[in-house]
Amino acid sequence: MLTQPVIFVSDIHLHPSRPETARLFNAFLAGPARAATALYILGDLFDTWAGDDDIPTAFNAGICAALHELSRSGTQLFFVPGNRDFLAGPRFAAAAGLAILGDETVVSIAGTPTLILHGDTLCTDDHEYQDFRALVRSAQWQAEFLAQPLHERKTAIEVLRQRSIEETRKKSMAIVDVNADAVLAAFARHRVARMIHGHTHRPARHTHGAGATLERWVLPEWHNGGGYLACAAAGCHAMPFPAQ
Ligand code: MN
Repeated sequence: MLTQPVIFVSDIHLHPSRPETARLFNAFLAGPARAATALYILGDLFDTWAGDDDIPTAFNAGICAALHELSRSGTQLFFVPGNRDFLAGPRFAAAAGLAILGDETVVSIAGTPTLILHGDTLCTDDHEYQDFRALVRSAQWQAEFLAQPLHERKTAIEVLRQRSIEETRKKSMAIVDVNADAVLAAFARHRVARMIHGHTHRPARHTHGAGATLERWVLPEWHNGGGYLACAAAGCHAMPFPAQ
């Protein structure tokens, strides 16, 4: 690519139990991310985030320092909260040197308006999850939850994490994927022809609409190797990491 790209990642699911993933992500931050004008992290950067008072934990502090180092090097950093790390707030943003964006944001990438989002809001067939999301995204639930001691929050989140693994296993593949009508509605609501999201762990380039003029990129997760999307004036390209 001739010009410096804007790059997108999601679903790194960083967790102390997976040091290999953290090592790979740190190599990405010190490598391809340095060559980008901006890095957008579209949610589930962390597998769990109990609150910004957990930043001093060695694992979290290391990731925040690496992100901040990238930001200092000149790459602009943006973060869209995912369903695992939506409690990341202003103190996380300051520690990582990034800006937190809303759930659905339209950004101009080399002149192309592009809708960026985590992707969970498109999975409208999973009613149970959408009910849960509405609860935990409410200001009242968050205020009550964050009022609990950190160690109790971490225990509660670990229970939820295990339950989520079980329930996702039981749900059909269709239910945990995006809903086609929700995708078209998002394109229409934001009047864009390009959308980038993660969450479903099914990396692909899809086209939608009459004449297939609407483009939807789904980002890969980082469990066994990772990847990112690089966009410039000529379009977007899915890139494996490490490079193959
Ligand atoms: Mn997710």
